[in-house]
Amino acid sequence: MNYHPLTHKCRIYPKDKQIKQFEMTLDACQFLYNELLNQYKVDYKNNNIPYNLINYFKMVIGQAKNNYSSISKLNDSTIDDVLNNVIRAIRLSKDPYKLKAKDEKIRVHSFLLNNTKNIELIGNILHLDKYGKFKLHYGKTIEYNRVISYKVLYQNKKWFILITIRSDNIKPFPKTGKKIGIDLGLKNLVVLSNGQKYDPPNILYSNKKLSKFNRKLSSKSKGSRKYEDIISKQNSEQFHRKNIINDYFHKLSTKIVKENDVIAMESLDIQDMLKDKRYSKNIFQANWHKLVYMIKYKCELYGKIFIQVNTRFPSTKLCSKCGYKYDDITIDVRTWECPKCGEIHDRDVNAAKNILRKALLKN
Ligand SMILES: [Zn+2]
Repeated sequence: MNYHPLTHKCRIYPKDKQIKQFEMTLDACQFLYNELLNQYKVDYKNNNIPYNLINYFKMVIGQAKNNYSSISKLNDSTIDDVLNNVIRAIRLSKDPYKLKAKDEKIRVHSFLLNNTKNIELIGNILHLDKYGKFKLHYGKTIEYNRVISYKVLYQNKKWFILITIRSDNIKPFPKTGKKIGIDLGLKNLVVLSNGQKYDPPNILYSNKKLSKFNRKLSSKSKGSRKYEDIISKQNSEQFHRKNIINDYFHKLSTKIVKENDVIAMESLDIQDMLKDKRYSKNIFQANWHKLVYMIKYKCELYGKIFIQVNTRFPSTKLCSKCGYKYDDITIDVRTWECPKCGEIHDRDVNAAKNILRKALLKN
């Protein structure tokens, strides 16, 4: 069985004193992040960056701990997490010198604690080191002996604990003997090679609310209290919409993985998609990779086979029965008849069938 860490997100309601402590830790993390980045920029400018970035930063962290008591009070795993974030940002940027320090606008909003003897989870009560006790608001019981780490997260004015657990010993889903190809679309979010179609999640109401906020914003002066008030409502509605989409994706991906043993999808080139203006406009297209990711890791988790095929192959234009390539299909053609074998195709189901066939050939 493949290993894949699983994360549970639990809402908590910290007391004022605990919030203060969380905020102090977040401030210290942010301070450390900026210290590491600043030192890196100085050394980068002077060509002083050694090949081994981790050793380099361990040295910088050692100095920061000596100089600042707020940093020396941080837990080792919290510091390592900040370090990983800095290194990730540096590796992703073409010009590290242009990397921005965290400030009021882009704040550090989470910190990590590895599972140690100072942390104890009994039922839904978490004793989190120096931060004290919290009641986790979560539907399931999490097995303490499988916890890897805890992450405190401040998001949309709410506090959460993300609990990451080892996923070994998870029972695989029973075998069904079924193989399926999936075509992702806009009108139907998911079309399966067996003809089943799934609509996108219903976010019409949420979208309406968001555009209403946008209209309201245009009449308020930037920075005013009313303006900030609308921004805050807008953020929380966006958060809500994201939850609707995530929830729908989770249910759909679990259903598909449960019902099938082999699942084939197209590989999505996110970079290419983002470059293409048509794509980034639609929220579902922007979220496709999330659905692919969920199906992929659930296959790994529950003992199913996931195969991705190259996007460049013309899944819509090939007849899935005889293999004839029909070049005249335009984007608005929903059904077509194969000129060679006479088979009548639903455009998306045919594409899903081709994706499955290509995937099975590949393996
Ligand atoms: Zn045909």
